[in-house]
Amino acid sequence: MEQDSLLLHHHPLSSNTMANISNTAPSDWRYVSEGGATIVFSYHGPPNPDFDGTVLRLRKALVPSLRPVVKVKDSEDGEEGNGKVVVHEEPDDPTIEYQIKCMSRLIPAENLPRLETVLLESEWLERLVELQNLKRPEGRREKDGIDVDRKKGVLATDLVGGNWLAVEIKPKWAFLPSLTHLSDATKATKSQTCRFCMHNHLRKSKGQIVEMSYCPLDLFSEDEGRMTRAVHGLWDGWHESGGSVNNLKVFAEGKILRPSEANAMLAGGVNTEYSINQIRDAFTTALVRTLVRNPVLSILSKLQRNLDVLDIEGLSKLWRETETLAPLYRTTFASFFEKPQESDAPPSTPLGVSSLFLSSPEPDIPAWEDFLDSFLSQFSAQLDNSQPVPQNLRYYLLAYLLSATFKDCSVIARLNFIDPGAEPNIKTGSNAVTVIDLDPKSMDKLRGWEKLDKEIATTYSSNPERKTCIDAFAA
Ligand SMILES: [Zn+2]
Repeated sequence: MEQDSLLLHHHPLSSNTMANISNTAPSDWRYVSEGGATIVFSYHGPPNPDFDGTVLRLRKALVPSLRPVVKVKDSEDGEEGNGKVVVHEEPDDPTIEYQIKCMSRLIPAENLPRLETVLLESEWLERLVELQNLKRPEGRREKDGIDVDRKKGVLATDLVGGNWLAVEIKPKWAFLPSLTHLSDATKATKSQTCRFCMHNHLRKSKGQIVEMSYCPLDLFSEDEGRMTRAVHGLWDGWHESGGSVNNLKVFAEGKILRPSEANAMLAGGVNTEYSINQIRDAFTTALVRTLVRNPVLSILSKLQRNLDVLDIEGLSKLWRETETLAPLYRTTFASFFEKPQESDAPPSTPLGVSSLFLSSPEPDIPAWEDFLDSFLSQFSAQLDNSQPVPQNLRYYLLAYLLSATFKDCSVIARLNFIDPGAEPNIKTGSNAVTVIDLDPKSMDKLRGWEKLDKEIATTYSSNPERKTCIDAFAA
């Protein structure tokens, strides 16, 4: 790595290992979309083998007025010591390494985008901001923007920009939790209604979104009738919200479509006369047939459920049990352990937060690789998940985080333009269905997730009209 960076620093054109963004003009790139952490542009410049058919994914930073004040250690941004400029190597975007070393062991290559590192320059990025920032939603622009100080970005297969429809779905949680570790307060609710439907209800009650009839358990059911219902639910939520729900996006040749532009999905062009319901039905048929022929949903469903075997409630219990067994914890709170009836229970550290008693460092790539070695071996098959033991806490923590990655990822399906008067012509092969947004989740999210889970389930338990969601693959 270090040698690479020196080489590139002195001879920017001599390296053929990494593309350099300054070989393109900022005006060659067009805004596509963004999420919480990243923003995406697609290449529309002159033919260039490094960039044709690619998108550029850049990290975002808060706008200066919202940035927390941080003290930078003198050495950290090290520069001009003894008149020399020291160039510090910025690591590759962790997404790339995580995908190559971890995700490729779980998801077939033809269902993943090709990812590469691209070198950035701040002047180039500033010019891109000038050209493209106004194309971003206003609410986003007020909060954050391209991080122009980054030296590296990600170049990925452009899954949306070709001569096809790209349908991006955020399918969310695929399963109902196993009952073993649920508390009496949540068991009845969490075993009847799926996590997405409960969360949807909570967000609606807070006025954040329109109610969606979409249930992920239908989408993951592998039953065409139920999948049709799920896609109708996604479409209706998309339509009623004016395209603002984030569970469905539709792109035509790279351009994101609003529901009012649905006739841009038609093969005959925008002047073709079909009703919105005819478009909805033809879209649904094409999407369901594409998904049902592809292993992606089945893979995601299995991974989610096999990695989240305790539910966050069981994970939290195991965490507390492990902490109370720590020798330092027992000596620190010795008076309690000697006479438990006479004193209050000692405090416990929130899930995922390291303390003197129990350490749970953020996993790095080698830790993820070790975890996958265990997960993909007999080890995981031999675990008794009804009675998890403290020695395996680390395994269960990483498993839960990885499950969260698959609960939060998106899927992009490629469809041909729609003809409601004909049978759909289904795309197959490489990148017909692709999994994206597979970022590693961090340990410090766990305590927030535990809190949210409790809020979702308790709020839902007081809902008089509880939905029944069917998990087709419940154990
Ligand atoms: Zn549901």
